[in-house]
Amino acid sequence: FNEIPSAYPEPGKTTVYDESETIDPETVPLNGGFIVKTLVLSVDPYLRGKMREASAKSYSASFEKGKPLYNYGVGVVLRSENSAVKVGDHVYGVFPFQKFFIRPSLEGVRILENKEKLPWSTYLGAAGMPGQTAFFAWKEYSQSKKGDIVFVTAGAGPVGSLVIQIAKSEGLKVIASAGSEEKLDFIRSLGADVVFNYKTTKTADVLEKEGPIDIYWDNVGGESLDAALKYANHKARFLECGMISDYNEKAPPVTNLVQIVAKELKISGFLVFSLAPKHIEWFYNEIPGRIANGELKILEDFKKGLEYGGHAIEDVQRGRNYGKSVIVVAEE
Ligand code: NDP
Repeated sequence: FNEIPSAYPEPGKTTVYDESETIDPETVPLNGGFIVKTLVLSVDPYLRGKMREASAKSYSASFEKGKPLYNYGVGVVLRSENSAVKVGDHVYGVFPFQKFFIRPSLEGVRILENKEKLPWSTYLGAAGMPGQTAFFAWKEYSQSKKGDIVFVTAGAGPVGSLVIQIAKSEGLKVIASAGSEEKLDFIRSLGADVVFNYKTTKTADVLEKEGPIDIYWDNVGGESLDAALKYANHKARFLECGMISDYNEKAPPVTNLVQIVAKELKISGFLVFSLAPKHIEWFYNEIPGRIANGELKILEDFKKGLEYGGHAIEDVQRGRNYGKSVIVVAEE
C-alpha cells in the first residue's frame, strides 16, 4: 500500500508492485511455524475502506503505508515445523499480498478439506466470505415469506448473485440491477424476474412498476436506496450489506428517509464476521456441495499475476469485474 486515494484507487500509485522483498521459500527459517505459497487472493469492495488514514475509526483497520495489502486467500503449505499442519495442506485465511509468507500457528487459518474438489478460487467467493454474507444475513434478517418481492442491487457480484438464487429458491419475485448488459444476461440466467441496468434505466421507474418491494438487499446505497425507500411496502425489510456508490465519491443524498417511519421499515445493517460464529460450520458443510453439484451458479473473474492486484482492486470499485474478482498468484 503506497498512498491514500482521493477517489478511485489507482494501480502504480495507490498500490505498487514490489518484488524486492520476496523470500526464498526453501531456506527461510520457520521458527516453529509453516510457510505458505499463495495460490489465489480475493479482491473485495471493502478493501477501499481500508485505504484511509490510520487514525480513522472503522470496524476494519487501515492498511499501513509501505506494507503489503492483505485479504482472504488460499495457499498451499510448502514446509512446516508445526505438528498441526502438513506439507500439502491447503489453508484459507486473511493473508498478505505476497507470493510466500510464514505463519506461526493456525490462528485465524482454516485447513480446507475440499472433498468436493472445487477450484480454490471458489473458497474466496461463493464458498467464502461473500457467500457467507449472502446466506447468513438472509437467514438472520430477511424474514422472507411467500409472495414477497425482493430487490437486489449489484446483482452480478458474488453477494448479489447468491441472494438472487436464495430468493428464487424460495419462489419469490426478484428484481435485480447491475451496470452492464453482460451482467444482466448472467442475472437473467439465475432466474431473476425483472432485470435492469441502473445506468440506463431509472431504478425508481422500475420499482414503481414492479413493486412495492418487501425486501431490499442493498449493496450500493445512494440513489438505489432512495428509490427502494420510496417504493417499499409497509413493514419491508432492508438488508444493508454495503454502499459501494459511496466508497469512492460522495453519492447524492438519500431523501426518502422519512419512509422508514411512515412505513415502519426494518433496517438491518450487518457485518459478516459478526454473524459467522453462529452459521459458519453449517456453511462449510452445506455450500461447497451445492456449488459442486451445480445447484448454485457462480461466476469468477481472474487476474493472473500478483502484479495485477492493483488493477483488480480498481476494477471492482468501478464495476469492471464480471463476477467474483480473484487474483491468481500461482498454480499448484
Ligand atoms: P461485486 O463483485 O458485486 O463488486 C462490486 C460491484 O458494485 C461492482 O462490480 C459494480 O457492479 C457495483 N458498483 C460499483 N459502483 C457502483 C455504484 N456507484 N452504484 C451501483 N453499483 C456500483 O462485490 P461483492 O458482491 O463482493 O459485494 C457487494 C456489496 O456487499 C459491496 O457493497 C460490499 O462492500 C458488500 N459486502 C458487505 C459485507 C458485510 O459484511 N456487510 C461482506 C461482503 C460484501 P455494476 O456493474 O453492477 O455497477
